[in-house]
Amino acid sequence: MQHQQQLQHQDNRRPAARSETPRLLLVDDEPRLRNSLRDLLRCIPLDVHCAGSGREAIALLQQHRFDLALLDLGLPDMSGHQIMDQIRAHGQDPEIIVVSGNTDIDSAIGALQRGAFDYVRKPYEPDDLLQKVQNALEKRRLARENRQIRTRLANSERMYRYLVDASPDLIYMLDHQGRFSYVNERAEAMLGFKSSELLGRHFLDFIHEDDLDRAQFTFNERRRGPRAARNVELRVKCGESKSMSNHAVRDGYLTISLNATGLYSQKSPDGRPETYLGTYGVARDVSERKRAEERVAYHAYYDTLTDLPNRVLFNDRLSLAIIQATRNTKQLAVMFIDLDRFKTVNDTLGHIKGDEMLREVSARLKSCVRKGDTLARLGGDEFALFLPDIRARRDAEVIARKILDELRRPFVLDEQEFYISCSIGIAHFPEDGATPDSLLRHADIAMYHIKSQGKNGFTHFALDMQSTTGHLLTMEADLRRAFERGEFEMFYQPQYDVATLSMVGCEALIRWHHPSKGLMTAGEFIPYAEEAGLIERLCQWALRQVCLDLKAWHVHDLRDFRVAVNISPKYLERDGFVDEILDNVSAFGIAPETLELEITENICIKNVSDTISKLQQLADSGLRIAIDDFGTRYSSLNYLHRLPFHTIKIDQSFVHDVNESTLRAPVITAIISIARGLGLNVIAEGVETPAQMQFLEKLGCREMQGYFFSTPVPKGEIATRLATHHAPFNGEGHPAQRLSDSPRTT
Ligand code: C2E
Ligand code: MG
Ligand code: MG
Repeated sequence: MQHQQQLQHQDNRRPAARSETPRLLLVDDEPRLRNSLRDLLRCIPLDVHCAGSGREAIALLQQHRFDLALLDLGLPDMSGHQIMDQIRAHGQDPEIIVVSGNTDIDSAIGALQRGAFDYVRKPYEPDDLLQKVQNALEKRRLARENRQIRTRLANSERMYRYLVDASPDLIYMLDHQGRFSYVNERAEAMLGFKSSELLGRHFLDFIHEDDLDRAQFTFNERRRGPRAARNVELRVKCGESKSMSNHAVRDGYLTISLNATGLYSQKSPDGRPETYLGTYGVARDVSERKRAEERVAYHAYYDTLTDLPNRVLFNDRLSLAIIQATRNTKQLAVMFIDLDRFKTVNDTLGHIKGDEMLREVSARLKSCVRKGDTLARLGGDEFALFLPDIRARRDAEVIARKILDELRRPFVLDEQEFYISCSIGIAHFPEDGATPDSLLRHADIAMYHIKSQGKNGFTHFALDMQSTTGHLLTMEADLRRAFERGEFEMFYQPQYDVATLSMVGCEALIRWHHPSKGLMTAGEFIPYAEEAGLIERLCQWALRQVCLDLKAWHVHDLRDFRVAVNISPKYLERDGFVDEILDNVSAFGIAPETLELEITENICIKNVSDTISKLQQLADSGLRIAIDDFGTRYSSLNYLHRLPFHTIKIDQSFVHDVNESTLRAPVITAIISIARGLGLNVIAEGVETPAQMQFLEKLGCREMQGYFFSTPVPKGEIATRLATHHAPFNGEGHPAQRLSDSPRTT
């Protein structure tokens, strides 16, 4: 019993690795021996299955898996070797202890060659046999534990490899010379290099030229301890692998943030110093973040719509230019450029088209400036430009003219042509200011000045403009008050038929008796009325006034006489537009054919069919429609045949181009022939000289209007002329007699 206690004790010390009881196959043809063996083995926790023959043994093998077999070699139906083969044939690998009375050494060797664990001779020593069984079980337990550890290790390695490879970051190792010795799978997707293209190559081969010094410093400084890891941003080259999924690559490079840590051998017990093995680290793609940072910086200094510098950058550069100009006693010019009537484009075509136009405008402006000049968009339709190092005012004028010319060409939006102009104010350093602020402000004042003079031109800042701008701020309030105070008055500019020398009509042109500024022309305040949203109210006032005056003139013979009233595009767009006109006409008992509506050509017809139908209704009711400022802005040629026009007004800018030395005007010639082709009445505006009159007459234009005939006059004057039967023209309106109008100055 002693051995049994000892084994049990051993068992307590080493609990079975597996909770299941090991299964034992006991094969012996002698029942007595089988039983005594079974009894002997009772002291070990075993699940014992006995077989008296080879056949029985095979039957058991088919039912169970065994951990251990005690095998007699001499069986009546089969040799022990055959059973061993059968065991293997059943895919089992129990530890086999051969228990045999056979003294034949060959059979013992044969058994051991077949993988038997041990060999016990009959009659056996029970303790010896038990010990051998214990050993076999222990070996088996160890083998199983080993297998489990290996599996765990393999799993854990798989998991780490997965974690490393699935990492969104690049994980790498460099050897002591700086060559890649390991990269995770991420390298390919992130850098576009297969690991085979990286391994063995020096890391510097992949670093952007400008970052080489920083990269070398990072890797050469063999850091350790808490300072070991550091974040460095470097630009690295990218390969062309198809599996690269990185869209952040720019010009073949991307920016990574990198942690590099030195790798050292363990300190040897004999105190020998650690040796440097290389570097390992993690690299993260930060290109997107970098780009976002750049975007933020870009937004701070650039206008995203046009890619031009913004106000901040403009001021910055201008400050530097001022410092330089001061040092070198040079001059510089600052221009404030504002588009004329851009609001109309934006309001009628929408912001997307408006933006498109702004981009096109900025491209054209860019084409006018030299390297070294700074062009910026200040916002909306405002641009600023400074020209460093100019010699004289003339230099700035050359650029300003170039800009005006460049914007004169039509813009094509939605397959239609649009015309736009701009107003430019110029301030000079050092005369007009010594800081970016004052220069820009003065250029702005000059710009407003040119706007109030009728736009589409440029002018230099002058001290006396300051006062003009003072009132700009209060203009809106003044305009509102003007309605209440009845400060508007309608003037009329006669229109003549030069063949008969008689007044055939007149154009109503609004005037404002400003309390402090005196009589203001429409050109001086209409733009502010538009900005302030007061233009519709002004149109309503004008329409009513014209009807009132027409009614008063009915006492005269108004046959073949008409009064033209200007209609703003905003008013035309209004829903009740047609009704309002017709209501006025009927309320005042006006003969509809005496009223002509002037629609300016720059109406960007937002809703063509709506406009056509409105104008058609009015034409059907007998009113006349004229197209104003023809040829200057928005090309209505496409619409001409669809819109019910009666009259084309040749814009005064074309007429102004005609003078004694240049008696040539291809645009006018073209307009007149178009009008003739369409059977339209044609009238020339802005005729100031006899030469212009004669020239137009020769081309076949009979009706004219302009200072040469008469400036716009109060209604009483018209009544007087009507009384003298359409007042034949006798040269009374020579320019010397201008009332309030003055030609635009540049
Ligand atoms: P517009 O309809 O083209 O009017 C012609 C402008 O040229 C008028 O300026 C007129 O005074 C001016 N003018 C006439 N003859 C000559 C000339 O021989 N030489 C020169 N240099 N100019 C001449 P005004 O009155 O300042 O009007 C400017 C614009 O304001 C008009 O251009 C018209 O579009 C608008 N406007 C005038 N009155 C009204 C109105 O009652 N309602 C609306 N909605 N707009 C008006
Ligand atoms: Mg007009
Ligand atoms: Mg006009």
